[in-house]
Amino acid sequence: MSSKEIDNLEELRKFRLADEGYIVITDSARPTLVHKVNAKCISIDSFNLKVSINGRKQGRYYWVDSLATASQAHQAKRCKVCKPELFLVHPSNFDK
Ligand SMILES: [Zn+2]
Repeated sequence: MSSKEIDNLEELRKFRLADEGYIVITDSARPTLVHKVNAKCISIDSFNLKVSINGRKQGRYYWVDSLATASQAHQAKRCKVCKPELFLVHPSNFDK
């Protein structure tokens, strides 16, 4: 179980290039959500605003190694837009 706060854009870029794990975004006004590491709902502008400009007063970004970590360490709910899921084989694939 591993979780690491993302401090700057360069770190965010590296995690997305590695394409492993998930991104947890906390927000003082909304529930904490976990996103796919390369989800389109993670915007550079929002990251800059929260982390750089507002000094993390309204939220923080974390990288986590798994959905279990997101849930246990951050009580994060899964984003309904990018829908991070465990890798399961959907039953409809058995027919192909
Ligand atoms: Zn998302």
